Amino acid sequence: MTVKVRFAPSPTGYLHVGNARTALVTWLFARSKDGHFLLRIDDTDQERSKPEFEEDIESALIWLGAQWDEKANQKDRTARYEEGIEKLKTDGRLYACYETPEELSLKRKTQLSSGKPPIYDRSALELTDAQKKTYEGEGRKPHWRFKLEHEPIEWNDHIRGPVKFNGGDLSDPVVIRENGNPLYHLCSVIDDIDYDITHVIRGEDHVSNTAAHVQMFVALGATPPEFVHMSLISDAEGGKLSKRLGSMSLRDLRDEEEIEPMALASLLGRLGTSDPIEAHRDIQPLIDSFDFSKFSRGTPKFDPDELLRLNAKILHETPFEDVNVRLAQMGLENLDEEFWNAVRANLEKLTDIKDWWNVAKGPVEPVISDPDFIKEAAALLPETPWSPDTWSEWTAAVKDKTGRKGKELFMPLRQALTGMEHGPELANLLLLIGPDKTRERLQSHKEAA
Ligand code: GLU
Repeated sequence: MTVKVRFAPSPTGYLHVGNARTALVTWLFARSKDGHFLLRIDDTDQERSKPEFEEDIESALIWLGAQWDEKANQKDRTARYEEGIEKLKTDGRLYACYETPEELSLKRKTQLSSGKPPIYDRSALELTDAQKKTYEGEGRKPHWRFKLEHEPIEWNDHIRGPVKFNGGDLSDPVVIRENGNPLYHLCSVIDDIDYDITHVIRGEDHVSNTAAHVQMFVALGATPPEFVHMSLISDAEGGKLSKRLGSMSLRDLRDEEEIEPMALASLLGRLGTSDPIEAHRDIQPLIDSFDFSKFSRGTPKFDPDELLRLNAKILHETPFEDVNVRLAQMGLENLDEEFWNAVRANLEKLTDIKDWWNVAKGPVEPVISDPDFIKEAAALLPETPWSPDTWSEWTAAVKDKTGRKGKELFMPLRQALTGMEHGPELANLLLLIGPDKTRERLQSHKEAA
């Protein structure tokens, strides 16, 4: 049996971290099984679905590396939904309801205040034809519900283990709106049947939907697929994803936060599993180690600081040829491999390189607190041409002459050369700054005086 899975976002907003995790995990599972990954756009809600969100979802998935094998849009499949609806109506599994949203909300409140669960009371099933006619005469249009069998519903979830519901504890789901549009539940089940989906992977907020879906699969003459419900992620403090984090779209992570896609993939592919979260520059280890048995039912925490640490680690190991195009796009066209190798260990985000570029090319504001020492050091600068050994030759000579060592020796030189107290290895940086600028910076105190 070929594994076939789908990621089914609604194009009603930008792709955010929570959904991206579902997408990536679904994709990793498919790849680990040599399976097939369908991107299904759930765009039955014509008012809220927007082409720009669909484009955003696609570009975010490509950026993340979760490329789909096939794509489908629910809006193109109305004819198939009509067929399913016809069958269910003929079989008596759909029934017309006439309550307004206000009436339904009142019912729910009454049930809750008398301590009852807010389950739809099925009063529409009691309506006579005459009553229905009266409603329609008043201009009311029916919405339709799927009639659940009041019997146990069970499945063996790949993360949650055995799950049990009773049909009688659930509201009959609304599957067709007043305007005739079929809704998510039915469309999703019909698609999962038509596209031969073998595993439905989604957030645990869908667990009770799944119970209803199991009966819909059967009512439509199909065997339900396997189900996998992932726990939802929370923020670093364990709360529900806060507005700030919850609204962290992939486009913001890419464009504003400058996160490398493999940093996010390294985090989202392992979050909530028993495998360690490590920086991976390649997706293959995440595929090879993938197994639903490693996922815990607990709520994993999404920690932006961890994402930044992974991002830095990935940059530190990235070879020049993987970034040169992006560096050129930043306007750093003459930045070569030597420069990249000298500073990459000091980057947290790729654009940090601009700071080191400026340090090398100048102008910088040298910090010289001990002018005599710097003067002595300047006089000892080795002859050109310089080599990778120049820094150690120079500092050895300065050490001999002044008796300084360690921080006393290096910090004033760093501050004079870069204006900063930290930064890339000076042995490398000295060569990037070059003899002319080095002299100029060491002498800047004198000039300023
Ligand atoms: N469009 C639904 C959602 O985004 C799909 C859920 C599913 O995977 O069935 O929640």
